[in-house]
Amino acid sequence: MKYLSTRGQVRDLSFKDAVMMGLADDGGLLLPETIPSLTPGDIAALEHLAYPELAFQILSLFAGGIPSADLKTLVDRSYAVFDHPEITPLQHRDGVFILELFHGPTLAFKDVALQLLGNLFEYLLKERGEKMNIIGATSGDTGSAAIYGVKGKENIRIFILHPQGRVSPVQELQMTTVTDANVFNLAIRGTFDDGQRIVKEIFGDLPFKTAHSLGAVNSINWARVLAQVVYYFYAWGRVRRATDCKDFYVSVPTGNFGDIFAGYVARRMGLPIRKLILATNENNILSRFVNEGDYSIGAVAQTLSPSMDIQVASNFERYLYYFFDEDAARVRQAMNDFQQSGRLAFLRQEEREKINRDFLAMTVGQEQTIATIRDFYRATGAVLDPHTAVGVCARRELSGGEAPVVCLSTAHPAKFPAAVRQAIGRDPDLPPSLAGIETRERRCETIDADTAKVKAYLAANAL
Ligand SMILES: *Cc1c(COP(=O)(O)O)cnc(C)c1O
Repeated sequence: MKYLSTRGQVRDLSFKDAVMMGLADDGGLLLPETIPSLTPGDIAALEHLAYPELAFQILSLFAGGIPSADLKTLVDRSYAVFDHPEITPLQHRDGVFILELFHGPTLAFKDVALQLLGNLFEYLLKERGEKMNIIGATSGDTGSAAIYGVKGKENIRIFILHPQGRVSPVQELQMTTVTDANVFNLAIRGTFDDGQRIVKEIFGDLPFKTAHSLGAVNSINWARVLAQVVYYFYAWGRVRRATDCKDFYVSVPTGNFGDIFAGYVARRMGLPIRKLILATNENNILSRFVNEGDYSIGAVAQTLSPSMDIQVASNFERYLYYFFDEDAARVRQAMNDFQQSGRLAFLRQEEREKINRDFLAMTVGQEQTIATIRDFYRATGAVLDPHTAVGVCARRELSGGEAPVVCLSTAHPAKFPAAVRQAIGRDPDLPPSLAGIETRERRCETIDADTAKVKAYLAANAL
């Protein structure tokens, strides 16, 4: 399986090179040349597999060049750290299936991909005799999942910038209580946007980037998408145990279009997803695109589901590539237009209809989010986190009831206690990994929101 860029100027990459490159050198995103297509018989054969075996089988279709025994070890190691024997258990509650993706070390679905990516990086760096210094800015969830993905790994250091005092207390503690020697937490005196700007400026300095072997772990790495394709298949296998159905809906709370794009890949492989339900909060560029054909940037609003407070969905370009029938020149043109004008105004009527073959979409506001957490709690006694609630609310409005619906549950409610308290009047129960976290040893440096100072820190501490 070879990889190519959505913008057409990078091709013939191996899986390993695609993982190490992250963002394609022509500014595009990497995709497999062809998406393997599975027969109903192939899919039925996957239905009964345990999660690690299923992950191994799906990854094997895309990850040529890594010997099977090594791939199996990488997958097994990645999912051994999850605290549930099923890795991503499916619960049936109040007429809906909830796929719990939060049993990894940082209690959000990003662990599913970043545990694997950390192990892949370590494996490939060792094979190549290289090292990597990862740098990233976080507003909360990605930073801790990335830190847990690479902590203690050989030939890797990680530097994560978070805005001092502006991430939730749980999120801050999840990052700063990791005291492994290869982990560097930097609390910057500034905002998340400052952090992102600094990281962008550092990556823009190519001599510095090369001199310090800088790498990224953002959601554009193909291996992250690939790891997420697995749980769509897992969900289908578990739904089939519970009901006799021909197809199903999946409702996905969406920000960067990464998670839902993985569902799109699963669907292209032949998994019988009738529609993907794209659920956004008020930052709704994606649901406007599906419902109105309008893809234009607005201002970022702060909501109860902060991990979806995103306006430019970086993975969306991957969908555009298929939407334009794999015409990389058209993707390049569209992305250039978008960069200049902040909108994509290209959609012909027949193309609009094409979107709705794949997606239904809805914007879910704060009141609906709170009401959904409250209603679900009254009906089932189970507590949803505010991101999951956005997807559960959208499913109620959009799925016809004739096919089962799986809602992806992207975070444990204990990560977002304020929203839960507002909805049900009490704090969510703490999972064992958070018990006593505030008394653990911490490691974090405070630093000015100044690119030169962050660079000096990196130069002094990088491998
Ligand atoms: C990152 C995140 C999302 C959004 O996922 P995308 O892949 O960016 O669409 C949703 N919920 C939670 C809890 C997250 O951390």
